[in-house]
Amino acid sequence: MTTEDLKAFEDKIYAFVGREVCPPTPAKDAVNGAMIRQWAEVIGDTNPAYTDDTWAATSSRGQTIAPPAMMYVWGQEGFAVTTGRAPDAQSELVNLFNEHGYSGVLGTNVKQEYFKETSPGDTVVMAMTIDNISERKTTGRGPGYFFETLATFTNQHGEKIGTQRFKVLKFIPQEQPAAAASEETLQVPTRIASPRGHDNKWWWEACDAGKVLIQRCKNCQTLRHPPRPMCGECQSMEWDSIESTLEGEILSHTQIHHPKIPGYQYPLICAVIKLAEGTNFMANVVGCEPSDVHIGMKVKGVVEQVDEKTMLPQFYPA
Ligand SMILES: [Zn+2]
Repeated sequence: MTTEDLKAFEDKIYAFVGREVCPPTPAKDAVNGAMIRQWAEVIGDTNPAYTDDTWAATSSRGQTIAPPAMMYVWGQEGFAVTTGRAPDAQSELVNLFNEHGYSGVLGTNVKQEYFKETSPGDTVVMAMTIDNISERKTTGRGPGYFFETLATFTNQHGEKIGTQRFKVLKFIPQEQPAAAASEETLQVPTRIASPRGHDNKWWWEACDAGKVLIQRCKNCQTLRHPPRPMCGECQSMEWDSIESTLEGEILSHTQIHHPKIPGYQYPLICAVIKLAEGTNFMANVVGCEPSDVHIGMKVKGVVEQVDEKTMLPQFYPA
């Protein structure tokens, strides 16, 4: 692609910034207790503010509320999406990327902000625009552009409930190494990099240093894993951590056969391990035959370098 072609392409994609993907559209159903109950059950959130009418009646709100993270749920289209949807600015933009070779797609980030609660009976109205498109970036996946949609949610009174930013990378997939290349010239692929966000970067940095930490609520001392900002028991956001002994017992396990992802060694055993400290932990079990792995098996973890870039706890038979 010449510089002029690239400029012409970028003029076209940047013209999408600010365009409406969908006008303010009320959800087909009002916020309702049945959907909240099912969502809370699937997520495993037992907060009575969501599902217990009697408890909620005595709370400061006076009634149940919907989990704020549900705001994107109410306007979902259901099976209609499988039979094709009307073209909009987002699908036009995606098609434009595809036509120019940027056929790869990777959702990279979702950020929600909450401003006001909703309760059963409220109607959630969603509007969406294409908010921004990055300059051309070189990424591990190939060259591409990040674009971000901004969904704004309001209630039936026009009051803002929240926003959701969804970032997507559209990229030109990298060529696979030629099959004829000799072993020596092929770079050994590394594992998928750990996602390091605001709430879990600290955990991975400790892992890089050879330690597995377990987050602990400073208020009620409850341990939790994986890392998250709030204590599920007392809602405190104050926390510290303890170092795990990495002694544990297998609660559940599976062997991954397909797809075989470059950078991983097979057989690949993934297990949920109950650590001696009490929290559950998902990791690979190594150092034994897959057929030896069983529920109740005692294991001991070691943080090891599994490739050029990655430190990970691996669990061996104890
Ligand atoms: Zn707590």
